[in-house]
Amino acid sequence: MSDLPSTRNGRRIAKLADDIASGRAAKVDKAKIDCNSPAILSFPSYYIDKPFRCNECGVDQVWTARQQQWWYEVAKGHVDSTAVRCRRCRKNLQARKRRIEASRQAGLARKAAVRDRGSDV
Ligand SMILES: [Zn+2]
Repeated sequence: MSDLPSTRNGRRIAKLADDIASGRAAKVDKAKIDCNSPAILSFPSYYIDKPFRCNECGVDQVWTARQQQWWYEVAKGHVDSTAVRCRRCRKNLQARKRRIEASRQAGLARKAAVRDRGSDV
């Protein structure tokens, strides 16, 4: 008796095979994951395209299997982390952080200039 795809597990395996073939799933390489967390124990064996809603603009997005693979295995993202913002909101956040950092650096430079002038007097 075949259990493919007559059982729930069989259907799940058939769907996974289909998702892998179409790029909606990718095998996890745990050796490449930064796993200093017990969360690695419950980490899945496959990345599967994951729908989510951007927590800033509310737009519906898909965090693709390939993006997850890059995040965890190349960028060494924490195993507990997950996508929360769409690409546009992520870019905006990075730009805001860069402006804040540039402003902080400018403030430090002004402070140093005042301090240096003070020591000349
Ligand atoms: Zn967004």
